[in-house]
Amino acid sequence: MKALVKAHAQPGLWLEDQPVPQIGAEDVLIKVKKTGICGTDIHIFAWDDWASRTVPVPMVVGHEYAGEIVEIGSSVRGLSIGQRVSGEGHVIGMKSRAARGGRFHLDPETRGIGVNIPGAFAEYLALPAFNVVPLPDDIDDEMGAILDPLGNAVHTALSFDLVGEDVLITGAGPIGIMAAAVARHVGARHVVITDINPQRLALAGQVADVVPVNVAQDDLEAVKARLGLKEGFDVGLEMSGAPAAFNQMVDQLVMGGKVAMLGIPAQPTPVDWTKLVFKMLTLKGIYGREMFETWHKMLAMLQSGLDVRKVITHRMDAADYQNAFETMLGGQSGKIVLDWSR
Ligand code: NAD
Ligand code: ZN
Repeated sequence: MKALVKAHAQPGLWLEDQPVPQIGAEDVLIKVKKTGICGTDIHIFAWDDWASRTVPVPMVVGHEYAGEIVEIGSSVRGLSIGQRVSGEGHVIGMKSRAARGGRFHLDPETRGIGVNIPGAFAEYLALPAFNVVPLPDDIDDEMGAILDPLGNAVHTALSFDLVGEDVLITGAGPIGIMAAAVARHVGARHVVITDINPQRLALAGQVADVVPVNVAQDDLEAVKARLGLKEGFDVGLEMSGAPAAFNQMVDQLVMGGKVAMLGIPAQPTPVDWTKLVFKMLTLKGIYGREMFETWHKMLAMLQSGLDVRKVITHRMDAADYQNAFETMLGGQSGKIVLDWSR
């Protein structure tokens, strides 16, 4: 099969012929149709410090996918050949207290497909049946391919009650933009999204009814005053990984405000903890999606009017991956979806 492989411990990815993965009794084999390129894949492509410490070489990469079941392990029940599916990319153990207690997303043995174990940028993917999420008929393959990052957005946005709340989102990358759409969908009052990249802010305005603010040139205080937010934002969703954005968020929140933090700072960074203490802020770290509550909620929201499709700005053949990765590295794209069916 064709697969995108991290074949060498250096920048780049290589489209290679690989054996079709073997499945175990509790796995399914998925014929991959569409995949999404994630910021994580960009780190792996560029081979930064994190990637070189984390990703084994050689290995098939990629973790955002939709496809169709073509083979089923002997112990698997309730799934069928030809079924359209996506799935959770975090493969967990079943030994920890968290997993045995049903809090699967908190299992410390979690391994990521396409990061720690072979991934989905390939014609076929072997996946534990436990991880499979069937796709309803009204969710097409290209939406199926971006459920993983939409799930990050949903997990973060639904961390706190947003109904009637004023929400500040820092970082208008694909996930921040989708989180803005989710915040709107569930009934936030004002949703302000910040970035320093005008193209990303323009895209945010196309996907969701939000107030985009370029913090490189515009004053957030003035925006707050214009919206009539005397005391600040009630909830912050940090989706940039930029230390400056986090500090700005802390300054802009109300007393007792809440922060859900998805963005990953590139290195340890200082925080003025006294501000968090005296403002009595609640800070929640977010990793991945909740298995499988986030999946249920996001599919249900997509079926009840949540529309994030415009966050997909490029559709390309898998063979054109070099161009796709370079486009994403340029920072001007939203989601890029690769087609594996040709
Ligand atoms: P992205 O890199 O595409 O978007 C980040 C955006 O933040 C960019 O548009 C950038 O211009 C903007 N930014 C930079 N400095 C800023 C500032 N000072 N103020 C406001 N915005 C600023 O990332 P993404 O794919 O949308 O993901 C969002 C973040 O979430 C990233 O940090 C990513 O690593 C992280 N992430 C975490 C998880 C998890 O499980 N915790 C999963 C996926 C992604
Ligand atoms: Zn991803």
